[in-house]
Amino acid sequence: MTADVFFMDLETTSKENLPQKLTRLVKRAGLKNILVNNDLTAVKIHFGEQGNTAYIRPVFIRKIIQTIKKYKASPFLTDANTLYVGTRSNSVSHIHTAIENGFSYSSMDTAPIIIADGLMGKSETKINVNQKNCSNVFIGSEVVNANALVSVAHFKGHELSGFGGTLKNIGMGCASRRGKLDMHSNVCPKIKRKTCIGCGECEKHCPSGAINFKGKKAYINKNKCIGCGECIVRCPTESVNINWNQTVPVFLEKMMEYTLGVLKNKKEKSLFINFITDISPKCDCLSYNQSPIVNNIGVLASKDPVAIDQASADLVNQQEALPGTILETNLKPGEDKFKGLYPDVDWEHQLDYAQKIGLGTRKYRLVKLKTLSYKK
Ligand code: SF4
Ligand code: SF4
Repeated sequence: MTADVFFMDLETTSKENLPQKLTRLVKRAGLKNILVNNDLTAVKIHFGEQGNTAYIRPVFIRKIIQTIKKYKASPFLTDANTLYVGTRSNSVSHIHTAIENGFSYSSMDTAPIIIADGLMGKSETKINVNQKNCSNVFIGSEVVNANALVSVAHFKGHELSGFGGTLKNIGMGCASRRGKLDMHSNVCPKIKRKTCIGCGECEKHCPSGAINFKGKKAYINKNKCIGCGECIVRCPTESVNINWNQTVPVFLEKMMEYTLGVLKNKKEKSLFINFITDISPKCDCLSYNQSPIVNNIGVLASKDPVAIDQASADLVNQQEALPGTILETNLKPGEDKFKGLYPDVDWEHQLDYAQKIGLGTRKYRLVKLKTLSYKK
């Protein structure tokens, strides 16, 4: 089986600007076919952490909202609360952050923000998936309650999964707090004593009080650690690391099983969009973003969540790396940029496993949209 993945580059003319081209892309990818009148449609995005600027620009999300409305469906913007201490760990601060980053009732053409797992991340629905690692998964109820799903993901590097795209936007992004804990439960980092400078950043941001000090060196209490990974991204000396080979494959598999759970009642009712722009090396959950590793590429849309991530990874890897970023190896076109960033993470495992459990296919046909121009 081969899936169609529709692609628009970022070239425009006076005949059609980028938001208009995006509308053409989502129509071509079949948005209309997944919606019927009055469908409550969850538009799953990442609003960006405060201080991060790599998330998808609101002007594009508004255009998607408007296109959904044209088909007489009722869109709402959604994401689930985070596990770690940040500006999106409860609905109130999550919505404040969304508004600060440009996603408000007025700027989104009156589409409301409804946080999927409620005020404190406890509003969840248990879904039976019967897979290798999880029998049940725990998903933010408002995503489960929605009639249709449009996932709009920012495709970029990610510390735990190599890259983050559609599959992560859905599997991790729609999970309730309990679901997120479940996925991370086998991930407990280690601290390199030799390079730890005792700055206390990890302790300050650890949500479960799992970090203590012996002298001026930090250490982790495994019994308290919930595996959120926050200490890894906060450490200024890169002293906190994961035991990748043992834990990451299971983490990736669980994330795919969660994706399966989210999509279980939305067969033929979902569309997936990846923005391959501002391709930062790390997650948008950070309160900053480092320089993009390759140039902006474009936007993809597909009904297959595996094919779209495979195509996105391929498009990034075909690029030549930009100079002066944290990516120091695999710089040439065709070399694996995500392996260059995270050599110990086998990002392909998530796609392999997703295909194996029936989420979609890694085989795709890239259908390129022509850039419209006036005939001379
Ligand atoms: S020690 Fe565990 S719980 Fe604390 S920040 Fe690190 S990964 Fe998260
Ligand atoms: S953030 Fe890093 S350097 Fe600072 S105390 Fe924690 S492990 Fe040590």
